[in-house]
Amino acid sequence: MPALGIDLGGTKLSAAVICDQRLVTDVKQRPTPSGPDKIVEAILDLLAEFKQEHVLVGVGIATAGIVKVDTGEVIGSTGNLPGWEGTPIRKIIERKTMLPVHVENDANASAYGEFTASDLKGKYCLVVVTLGTGIGVGIIIDGKLFRGSHWAAGECGHIKISMENRRLCTCGLFDCWEAYGSGRGLLTTGKELIAGVKPEQSKLAELGDSLTNQAIIEAVENGDLLAQKAFTMWHEHICAGLINLAHTLDPDCFVLTGGMEQFVDYPLLRELVSDRCLPRIAEKMEIRGSVLGKNGGMVGAAELVLDRIAADA
Ligand SMILES: [Zn+2]
Repeated sequence: MPALGIDLGGTKLSAAVICDQRLVTDVKQRPTPSGPDKIVEAILDLLAEFKQEHVLVGVGIATAGIVKVDTGEVIGSTGNLPGWEGTPIRKIIERKTMLPVHVENDANASAYGEFTASDLKGKYCLVVVTLGTGIGVGIIIDGKLFRGSHWAAGECGHIKISMENRRLCTCGLFDCWEAYGSGRGLLTTGKELIAGVKPEQSKLAELGDSLTNQAIIEAVENGDLLAQKAFTMWHEHICAGLINLAHTLDPDCFVLTGGMEQFVDYPLLRELVSDRCLPRIAEKMEIRGSVLGKNGGMVGAAELVLDRIAADA
């Protein structure tokens, strides 16, 4: 049974038809319009385009923000989608299309996609970490997404990893994991390290405020010591959050995904984690990359609506 999987991010709206945990069409993409009415309109347009060639049985929507899954309403704000909070997205799309709709937080949807599409389906506890501009986490326990008492489980980007009150997070708190371990975190570390350094010591110093993560990664490959320091610190920062989660959940596996995942040095990260984790937990715990990459949210959201259709049948 094919369903449409939609991933609504701050900059892009992506959709594809999903069947048996994989994409059966190309991804159609457009820039995320501004304001809830225009976003809904864009979702309905995409749906109409796919419906011309496919018989769809449901729609799964992965969105940034905290989602009250039983009603399909976005209840937690996200700075990337202004005005989106309070939108009863499931009700609106169901009324307009007469199709079952499931709405899920994007990190949760991505976790469910990885769970269903990989060989991890039999595992008891799986933690999927999306390393992007920020950090999102989805937790699967005993085959089900763990969503917490207020739908906000997995907001692990805001785990506190330092007591120094050095870095302000976008949430208003200090020293959250994502202020260090995300793409934004790596860039902040790079900028801190180049402050006061002369261009002859590191080429990155010439870039000043126009430093980018791409420049840091390239400099790492070219043997720039300062870039290598920033890169190692970034892995220490990713490790700090993973350790907290490992000691809380004792998972079978961490799966890393998101735009920054391609830069992760897995042997380095595994070594750091096993050095800092209780041996009983670390011995058999895996850390690996995703199988679905940027399609995880679409696949997971579609699988979630298909599960619901199967349960209601
Ligand atoms: Zn935060």
